Amino acid sequence: MTSPASAAEALKSARRVVVKIGSSLVVEADSRGPALGWMASLAEDIASLRTGGRQVILVSSGAVALGRGRLGLEKNARLDEKQAAAAVGQSLLMQAWEQALTPRGMTPAQVLLTRDDTERRRRWLNARATIEALLKLSAVPIVNENDTVATEEIRYGDNDRLAARAAQLARADLLILLSDVDGLYTDDPRRNPSARHLPVVDTLTPEVLAMAGGANTEADVGTGGMATKLEAARIARSAGCATLIVSGLTTRPLAAVAAGARA
Ligand code: GLU
Repeated sequence: MTSPASAAEALKSARRVVVKIGSSLVVEADSRGPALGWMASLAEDIASLRTGGRQVILVSSGAVALGRGRLGLEKNARLDEKQAAAAVGQSLLMQAWEQALTPRGMTPAQVLLTRDDTERRRRWLNARATIEALLKLSAVPIVNENDTVATEEIRYGDNDRLAARAAQLARADLLILLSDVDGLYTDDPRRNPSARHLPVVDTLTPEVLAMAGGANTEADVGTGGMATKLEAARIARSAGCATLIVSGLTTRPLAAVAAGARA
């Protein structure tokens, strides 16, 4: 979505990539359990990026949704119930990533952050040093917000923003937001069939930001939406990191980008 000119080119020239995965991709709507087949296909993509010399950090949502599924809680659960769901779901999430990554020779590493970790200098430097060490050891950091302890006032609130902060922290040069849309449109393409896709946006002007509308209140799982994605792109951009908004509705979504799919 930001320069360089095409998504495939951005992926090709990147050295350190943060891939953010939304809850709706990691959690199956029917079973409310992890989407193991899709996660395995993404693991193939990650392995091939690494073989091509790129370092990959994942930011994975899904803890709250998986925990709600296991505990039989509905979407309108109370805050303390959501935090309890995150405690249950985070371990299910890591088990699923373990299952996806380990057979492909990769070692997952859980990194749970709260907002303070990216806002206080000493904690920022500590978190950065740990991520550097994990990458040096060839592990795959899998970042999420520490939802069990982060209350409203101290939360990032959504994983798009968390992913942008993680990209800044890790000095990544590319942030890929995998979700159920394939890029930025002049309007919501689900409601307006004449909405146009914008392949490259160099400057996040007020007009561009207005196209995003509000947060995604329709989603059953997750909290993002186009507005939070543009905010993430703005944060990443200020750290010299480009952003791609990529559809994860297919298997091997990153191979599709490398082959020229829309982003
Ligand atoms: N951190 C939350 C989770 O793992 C998700 C927040 C978001 O979807 O943006 O469930």
